[in-house]
Amino acid sequence: AKDKGPISYEVFQGSMAEQSTQKIHLIAELNAAIEKNEFRVYFQPVVRLSDSKVIGAEALVRWQSGQRGLVAPGVFIPLAEESGLILPIGHWVLRESCRQIAERLKNGWASDFDVHVNVSVRQLIQSDFYQKLEAILQEFSLSPHNLTLEITESILIEDSNVIATLISRIRLLGVSIAIDDFGTGYSSMSYLHQFAFDCLKIDQSFVSRFLDNHKSEAIVSAIIRLAGGFDVPLVAEGVETLEQAQRLHELGCQRAQGYYFGRPAPLEEWPEGWCGSGQS
Ligand code: C2E
Ligand code: CA
Ligand code: CA
Ligand code: CA
Repeated sequence: AKDKGPISYEVFQGSMAEQSTQKIHLIAELNAAIEKNEFRVYFQPVVRLSDSKVIGAEALVRWQSGQRGLVAPGVFIPLAEESGLILPIGHWVLRESCRQIAERLKNGWASDFDVHVNVSVRQLIQSDFYQKLEAILQEFSLSPHNLTLEITESILIEDSNVIATLISRIRLLGVSIAIDDFGTGYSSMSYLHQFAFDCLKIDQSFVSRFLDNHKSEAIVSAIIRLAGGFDVPLVAEGVETLEQAQRLHELGCQRAQGYYFGRPAPLEEWPEGWCGSGQS
């Protein structure tokens, strides 16, 4: 795929010593990339399954590296988390996503368009995160109702009381919280008790095999009913075929995201029909 740089395969091979040297180099490059403004935000459409209408988007970061080409986040986000560079990168992604979407909203996009931004728990627990979030919304006059923060449940574990409090404050501001990759953590269910949330996202590992595996279908359909019980929308990720989309809709899933509907792309490359001006 065009968003997988060759780096994914060449990095972190060889001996331990070579690997750590490679890591140090990559961290230095990432640092320089921030200075050189080499990060880009791609947006993947989120659709309503009843009519395939685009109702929002997930912001996904890319690194447009001079030497390496377009680098996928799977390669550098874990290293950014480890090194702390996720803080400046994550802040940039949040601000840039809000800037771009606010501009589109001013130009006639549907006023309930929902942009989802991934937020690392490391970012979330910074004492000034809330303040920065508020400042960004203000700077671009973006309504908090247009913004959802996606948090991955596997790392929600840190200190659940602290995180629950942070999440409540953010929700009071009007910003929504989505639990990302739902079903992959080992104690998924306990999170549903501990944290208030506005949206669940089923991990693509279930979606990719639920048509030919009745166990996966049982899990998907249970998660769909679970979301219904909490009265929150559910987004199925990684939908690649019409058959998957149809079956998910039959099972009661309302929203989906995946290559079948559209790949992540810069907003300038979004086709006219995705932009959601004019509601139905
Ligand atoms: P994620 O949040 O689970 O994002 C969904 C990933 O699935 C994206 O990969 C997306 O391109 C990919 N995807 C979407 N539809 C399909 C499909 O139909 N089939 C398949 N096979 N894949 C699909 P991407 O963009 O490479 O991002 C990977 C991960 O990197 C994300 O997983 C997220 O955890 C992380 N990430 C991306 N951007 C950010 C960011 O700005 N901040 C943080 N903290 N993490 C980010
Ligand atoms: Ca996500
Ligand atoms: Ca996800
Ligand atoms: Ca994921």
